Amino acid sequence: MALNTLQQLLDEGVDGRHVLVRSDFNVPLDDEGNITDAGRIDASLPTLKALLEGGAKVIVMAHLGRPKGEVKPEFSLRPVAEALSERLGQFVALAGDVSGEDAHERANGLTEGEILLLENVRFDARETSKDDAERAAFAKELAALAADNGAFVSDGFGVVHRKQASVYDVARELPAYAGYLVEKEVETLSSVKDAPNHPYVVVLGGSKVSDKLGVIEALAEKADKVIIGGGMCYTFLAAQGHNVQKSLLQEDMVETCSQLIDRYGDKLVLPTDLAVAPEFDKNAEKKIVGLDGIPEGWMSLDIGPETAQAYAAAVKDSKTVFWNGPMGVFEFPAFADGTKAVAEAMIAATRENDSFTVVGGGDSAASVRTLGLDESGFSHISTGGGASLELIEGKNLPGVSVVSK
Ligand code: ADP
Ligand code: MG
Repeated sequence: MALNTLQQLLDEGVDGRHVLVRSDFNVPLDDEGNITDAGRIDASLPTLKALLEGGAKVIVMAHLGRPKGEVKPEFSLRPVAEALSERLGQFVALAGDVSGEDAHERANGLTEGEILLLENVRFDARETSKDDAERAAFAKELAALAADNGAFVSDGFGVVHRKQASVYDVARELPAYAGYLVEKEVETLSSVKDAPNHPYVVVLGGSKVSDKLGVIEALAEKADKVIIGGGMCYTFLAAQGHNVQKSLLQEDMVETCSQLIDRYGDKLVLPTDLAVAPEFDKNAEKKIVGLDGIPEGWMSLDIGPETAQAYAAAVKDSKTVFWNGPMGVFEFPAFADGTKAVAEAMIAATRENDSFTVVGGGDSAASVRTLGLDESGFSHISTGGGASLELIEGKNLPGVSVVSK
């Protein structure tokens, strides 16, 4: 399966044509609505610039957070429009709606090399509807913005695993291409999936336990080691009979975790010590304890130092590493050590062991920057969490297949 590439579209010519682009601008915001990590916006620039330079009338679709199908001002893409204007060095207009009157008027008013950002596509409940007809109706409204010789470019890698109107259905309404970001992500991650050098080490963490437990099986078949930390490790520790107290736990998956431990044995690597706190708070007291030492009512917010050292050593020895999900609540400086140890070991593996090191996951990528680590020390930092995992796992991604031949 080969992608229809942006280069093909540029070769056909985009001058004066409306091009509808799906980008991933789902960036983290602080309490005042300021963008705390603009990595995804930066990653979208090459595609947007190429289209603008080619004279396209660019209309960008994106989502931010989970407004759940309602117009909620705190999820407006206004901060993104401003950040994008700054980076592109040209005004980025923000439509007052998604596919309504204002969007249509502004799209019609665009001239060559101008760009319009639609409001948060998730302000419309049809974007994520399970009903094919509802999504298709919304996709038709979006595609109508680029009617008359328009085209669609899929560049929001972080959402290509979702069968959503602006990702999947819209690509069936217009000639559809993969943007530079999607192309690069798919190429790089496919090479890890199809031909990893060994030892191949997968490091999994983060908070989305239910999403990620499912992939362990697929990855354990291919990797030499699956190292587990972050929010998901406590369900495994519970399966081993430890009392994880108030740590993140997915009770209904304890049995599954037990079976995984039985089946994969030493291949699954679990913590041997933990950093715990009495409450979920930045300034909480911190203690290092063994697996059975979590005080009553406390919770584990990071792997312990002995675990961090063991994980780092395995990563340094690898020839391929895929890392998804922080090892702890890295947003609290006192509980960032485990995440930092793994990330630093990846940089060492890249530089000293010629390992191919990939970071996948919105928060994992943000943690690299927040912790002040050198992004160039990784072979690839993916903009997609779920999407990168599903690709590595070998699943079919709706938003990729729809722009493939
Ligand atoms: P990614 O975006 O990289 O795929 P996730 O979204 O799954 O990662 O998870 C990231 C979040 O997981 C971070 O905000 C982090 O604070 C949280 N996290 C990691 N370890 C723990 C833990 N032990 N308890 C609670 N939350 C955790
Ligand atoms: Mg995340």
